[in-house]
Amino acid sequence: MSLARLQDDDRFHEECGVFGVYGHPEAANLTYLGLHGLQHRGQESAGLVSSTAGRLLEEKGMGHVARIFKKQQLRRLKGALAVGHVRYSTAGKSNLVNAQPFRIESSKGEIAIAHNGNLVNATQIRADLEKAGSIFRTSSDTEVILHLIARSSHADVEAAIVDALKQVRGAYSLLFITPDRIIGVRDPRGFRPLSLGRLGDAHILTSESCALDLIDATLVRDIEPGEMVVIGPAGVRSYRPFPAEPVTQCIFEYVYFSRPDSVVFGRGVHDVRKRLGRELGREQPAAADIVVPIPDSGVSAALGFSEATGLPLEFGLVRNHYVGRTFIEPRQSIRHFGVKLKLNPVRSLIQGKRVVLIDDSIVRGTTSRKIVSMVRAAGASEVHLRISSAPTVGPCYYGVDTPRRAELIASSHTVDEIRRYVRADSLGYLSLEGMFRAVGESRSLCTSCYTNSYPVPFPEEEKTQKVAVERHRT
Ligand code: SF4
Repeated sequence: MSLARLQDDDRFHEECGVFGVYGHPEAANLTYLGLHGLQHRGQESAGLVSSTAGRLLEEKGMGHVARIFKKQQLRRLKGALAVGHVRYSTAGKSNLVNAQPFRIESSKGEIAIAHNGNLVNATQIRADLEKAGSIFRTSSDTEVILHLIARSSHADVEAAIVDALKQVRGAYSLLFITPDRIIGVRDPRGFRPLSLGRLGDAHILTSESCALDLIDATLVRDIEPGEMVVIGPAGVRSYRPFPAEPVTQCIFEYVYFSRPDSVVFGRGVHDVRKRLGRELGREQPAAADIVVPIPDSGVSAALGFSEATGLPLEFGLVRNHYVGRTFIEPRQSIRHFGVKLKLNPVRSLIQGKRVVLIDDSIVRGTTSRKIVSMVRAAGASEVHLRISSAPTVGPCYYGVDTPRRAELIASSHTVDEIRRYVRADSLGYLSLEGMFRAVGESRSLCTSCYTNSYPVPFPEEEKTQKVAVERHRT
């Protein structure tokens, strides 16, 4: 594995994105554009399913949306209804068979599903279904839902979906498409976002509102946790078919995943990120000359940090946006190019300065260490690292691709040990309380990767937590 690939892996990864259109003659084209707007949520594969003349048509491929869908494929996807999906593999291997939406024909008719999230009991359900004779085509947790729908005793597809979802646990923001309707569902805890939009008479469902802006649609509202919205010939119908549970919306959507121009869980992401930076500046000021964001995710927080501390903001690191994943195996002599492929310091801004670097998180620490060294090599007299979230001490089981606990540096090292590892002059994290102040509330958020306290138990996690010796020292 190349260093560049390793650098990519030193991150919590985006999960997936879903987008659907009902009631527009160019539904597939709009969905294609919407998937462009959600590309940051998954770059492994993408797929699109439309409905025309009572049949579902699909196109899928590996890689970025722009590469997969050509004119002739989009022309094929006729109809006024479409749903699409961009995928980063959080469960199941990354290959074309796992690219969503998944489409089946069953006694309930044709149906396709697009999923953002992760089901914590999918392995168990799958084992039970396989014992009972079911044959799975993919290694994805999402396919379990389709099997449960197909096996449901309810003939009506909406009732069968509810029946299936009552048997799964975990995180799901789902879109379904049938020949005559699209259906959006958010799990009762609301881990992942899902919003309703409007474009003229057409209705849109999307993971993030930034995709609505792209097609000149307006944000109507969030789909509420536990809500099922059916958009069909009878208009928009809303149901609450599941027992209410405490809401635990993912705080990391604000810290890193969502685009800053999105409104997620009712709040502007850039505004929250800036407030995270402000709180960080108040809690962890530094005696320095300039504030430099680690682009792109550190930019909004760096603005807030600069406002709170009065230190000038400088774009002292420039990101090369045109680097995808590289799989070269560099020889020792060119290994340090790993980070340099993506970032380059602006020497004239940094030389002789005491620099505060702002990032959103530290995962393994390997990338932070390289960036600190890079800034020092560019002439900084001191490098202070500030992180606009609390230490990430646990993995995510709710739809975010994270390294194993043992690979998270903060799960087994103190802040000072991490500082020494990344070779910074000082290191400061925002506290969890500071994060809550920035978001404006604490009650309806998932914070498990900062606390190791999981609202929906994961079977393997329960086992490992019993034997794990947690050294959560900050
Ligand atoms: Fe989000 Fe972390 Fe909770 Fe996963 S564990 S849903 S990344 S807050």
